[in-house]
Amino acid sequence: MNYRHAFHAGNFADVVKHIILARILAYLMRKDAPFRIIDTHAGVGLYDLFAGEAERTGEWQEGIARLVERGLPGAAGELAAPYLAAVRAQNPDGVLRYYPGSPFITRHMLRSQDRLMALELHPEDAAALKENFAGDIQTRVTHLDGWAGMGTHLPPKEKRGLVLVDPPFEEKGEFTRMVQGLEKAHRRWPGGIYAFWYPLKEPEAVAAYIQALKATGIAKILRLELTIRPPSSPPRLHGTGMIVVNPPYVLEEEMAMLLPALAELLSDEGRGRWTIEWVAGE
Ligand code: SAM
Repeated sequence: MNYRHAFHAGNFADVVKHIILARILAYLMRKDAPFRIIDTHAGVGLYDLFAGEAERTGEWQEGIARLVERGLPGAAGELAAPYLAAVRAQNPDGVLRYYPGSPFITRHMLRSQDRLMALELHPEDAAALKENFAGDIQTRVTHLDGWAGMGTHLPPKEKRGLVLVDPPFEEKGEFTRMVQGLEKAHRRWPGGIYAFWYPLKEPEAVAAYIQALKATGIAKILRLELTIRPPSSPPRLHGTGMIVVNPPYVLEEEMAMLLPALAELLSDEGRGRWTIEWVAGE
């Protein structure tokens, strides 16, 4: 396990991924009934952008820094506000230095009745995450393989909520594990919302993934993608994707406002594109 998310914290892919996460949370909060978020590949939770890996790559400069500095226009700006509030909460003096990963963004938005279950397999990252949530009775951090956790922790007793799956894609076969993981989880909890992140790097791999998702027969699968430049050879990350199963009914419309504005903000010289497409309908 060599992947260290700190290299990429707050980059364009994190921004898009975490805005989608925050929109799903905002939807779940419309009802008082409690919900549970299961974050299967949680990372360490909080990243110092001025130190170590994040400082070395500076990827966040083209991601969260652009959003904080320039903002988004109109309705897109309003939709991004809960996510930005979670980022600002970690930087109370107004200087962007700390970037909240998915468990911190989720935790910021939880109400007293909601719960977060965060799984992380890397021993050091799991220890850091545990320390970050020490004493927090609403969050349980477990040092566990996220794929295994998707079996044992579903369905949650609240019967409402989201499973966020955000693997490192450092090993071959991750797309296949995503499809198998979704099938297994969906059998246990067909009514849950699932958000599966994936990199846009090799177009053939993504096309095969989408075909495999179609072949599962699972209904209500929404595909959300944003590219910041055209694909290149040799391949390098050129975009970010999220598959959302059982999306909130408002998500498609919200993303139709957000993705064009984010593509404009985050892309290289206006070369950004976006996709909103149903892989499978009702
Ligand atoms: N979700 C985090 C966020 O948005 O802030 C970032 C997660 S990062 C892309 C992927 C994480 O998965 C890494 O911290 C890595 O150590 C962890 N990981 C890798 N394989 C895993 C597995 N099988 N189960 C759980 N975590 C795993």
